[in-house]
Amino acid sequence: MTKTKTIELCNKITGGLSNESKMWSKSFGLPAKRCHVGQVLAQVEGTVCEKCYADNRGHYQYPVVREAQERRYKLLYNPLWVVAMTMLLWLQVKEFFRWQGSGDLDSVKHLQNIVEVCVNTPHLKHWMPTKEKGILKEFLRNGGVIPDNLVISMSGYFVDGGKVKGFDEQPQIAHHLTYNKRNKHGVETEAYICPVEDDLGFKSCDEATCSACWNPSVRVVAGALH
Ligand code: SF4
Repeated sequence: MTKTKTIELCNKITGGLSNESKMWSKSFGLPAKRCHVGQVLAQVEGTVCEKCYADNRGHYQYPVVREAQERRYKLLYNPLWVVAMTMLLWLQVKEFFRWQGSGDLDSVKHLQNIVEVCVNTPHLKHWMPTKEKGILKEFLRNGGVIPDNLVISMSGYFVDGGKVKGFDEQPQIAHHLTYNKRNKHGVETEAYICPVEDDLGFKSCDEATCSACWNPSVRVVAGALH
């Protein structure tokens, strides 16, 4: 089978990859309206999800993008998903990959499948932000192991808020915080400020030559509220 045909087939099985304008990487995006924690936080004033960019802003508002996200969501538990995602990443991604360009983890099974794809692609660096603390905790309680090439960022719930607690012993679990621009100096001192969101003139990770989100030794990354 040709490369093109293989990609077509794998796209049918998984819904395909998305392009990230700001990052080095391609990504896999799901509908924000399917987030479990996010839908609760969206009702709470001052949370990151209250102003969720993925549901209302930028190119995520276009029907074609939303339909693609929903298609991917409905295909998440296709028994061939792990094999097809593995193939797509081998054929379409060079070095960095982002999970959940929009949306979030759906279940422990979903996380297990992602981990399996990461193990199958040891040449890639994977990054996955999430607010689904319960799913991650259950995965770890069940003996789940996060592979060395996957960094999971626990995403803080409140704008200008602190880190999600409970993962201090996990070297592959880092943190992401969101700050209001007028409060930049109030961000936790240990946080690395994302250069793309710091008005330094960089439009992408590529331009800023930054891959901090994929680096587990950068324990906290902070980005500005859009
Ligand atoms: S911290 Fe670096 S890698 Fe992460 S989004 Fe910002 S520029 Fe990209």
